[in-house]
Amino acid sequence: MEDKLREVYNPDNFKKAGYELIDLISGYLKNAEQGDIPVNNFEEPEKQLEFWKNYELGNNPPVKLFKDIIDRSIHVHHPKYMGHQISPAAPISALSSLVSSILNNGMAVYEMGSAATAIEKVVIEKITQKIGYGNNADGFLTSGGTIGNLTALLAARQAVSDTDIWENGIEENLGVMVSEEAHYSVDRALRIMGFGTKGIIKIPVGEQFTMKTDLLNDYYQEAEQNGIRVIAVVGSAPSTSTGMYDDLESIAEFCTAKKIWFHVDGAHGGAAIFSSKYKHLLVGVEHADSIVIDGHKMLMTPSIMTFLLFKEKNNSYSTFSQKAKYLLGKTGEEEWYNYASRTIECTKLMMSIKFYSILQCHGEEVFGQFVTHLYDLGKVLANCLKQRDCFQLALEPHSNIVCFRYMDTNLSAQELNELNSYIRNEVLKRGNFYIVQTNLNDLVYFRVTLMNPGTNSEILEELLDDIEEIRESRRIAKN
Ligand SMILES: *Cc1c(COP(=O)(O)O)cnc(C)c1O
Repeated sequence: MEDKLREVYNPDNFKKAGYELIDLISGYLKNAEQGDIPVNNFEEPEKQLEFWKNYELGNNPPVKLFKDIIDRSIHVHHPKYMGHQISPAAPISALSSLVSSILNNGMAVYEMGSAATAIEKVVIEKITQKIGYGNNADGFLTSGGTIGNLTALLAARQAVSDTDIWENGIEENLGVMVSEEAHYSVDRALRIMGFGTKGIIKIPVGEQFTMKTDLLNDYYQEAEQNGIRVIAVVGSAPSTSTGMYDDLESIAEFCTAKKIWFHVDGAHGGAAIFSSKYKHLLVGVEHADSIVIDGHKMLMTPSIMTFLLFKEKNNSYSTFSQKAKYLLGKTGEEEWYNYASRTIECTKLMMSIKFYSILQCHGEEVFGQFVTHLYDLGKVLANCLKQRDCFQLALEPHSNIVCFRYMDTNLSAQELNELNSYIRNEVLKRGNFYIVQTNLNDLVYFRVTLMNPGTNSEILEELLDDIEEIRESRRIAKN
């Protein structure tokens, strides 16, 4: 072996760098959790690019590179991180990612990932039981909710169509009904599938920003009159921008009556099935033909791992082959372990161990605790906001996603939008907190997703103080 290659694969080098890295990361986690570092060192993209283009590790140990990467990244383990919906990864699960990376089992066929493949079946069964699916349920893991939604809609198309789309292509105009507040990945999936704008039937939302399910029938009739065959309805559990759950029970009833597919996009909040306090938000989910739940959002795993569940096993096999139903009939159970026949991915991460390591080392109850704690915290923030006149809460939150804005009745809608955007940008630049923004009915709102169990009411009050202070400094600067 060439000397350089020997160096690359030297286990002793790995051991040295690895120990140094673990020391670095555990110190980092302490700093982040205690808020001793800023949540984010925001730098403009061009400056960041320049830094890495000119970067030279030189004779420094590899841990220096990792430290520089950490310093220049956002810190999701920080209790003032409350922006996008990514969980602070459970450290045990992060370690499982290291194991996955070193083993690098490709997963496509059984012998390329035997342990992780069997574990995948175990974790899928765990979740399908939680959902309340019967014994005929099945599923697998995909690389994210976006791919999960696409796969589910492909399965719906295959299951519902009379003709053999896989063989002949699409021969009729097909449509899917979905709330106008649904995550863009549903829209994108349908466009990838060739449905076009006319095949994406957006159902308006009501005051609660949830799908107006009483309109489903009207939109369905109208689509049919326009020659579009509606094959499915997608429910959001919850929608991404407001965190509000659609009425899954009503959607289920509608789909049953019309004999069409019911898909639940529970990427964020399907995890509430683990919380005895909040699982009521998911009532009706057990009727869904397919469900997506992200592990990296509300189940504490590192990115990326997603559950894609099917009520009927057959549907999880037939997506990518018109002959699968026949094959399944013939070979039956034996085929469960060759996952690539059912997924978009060929090579796939050993995702199952990210969830299984938490389950084994900490027990199932931590998933419920995580969801309950954070959804409770959403209500705590809502209450803090109500104590202050200068804030307007968009909605009574269902979950850990809370939308609100700075309010001043002397300002026009446009001035308020501009002010709220300004404040959010200042918050980002200061790096003390991380929050994002969203538009609801053309009004700009701050959007907070409480992802860290270390966040508490004092920290939330401090956020509101910061926002008020930014507003005040600007007022002074302008005068
Ligand atoms: C995040 C999210 C998605 C996309 O999932 P990824 O894992 O980011 O691909 C889809 N739907 C909803 C409701 C989401 O919140």
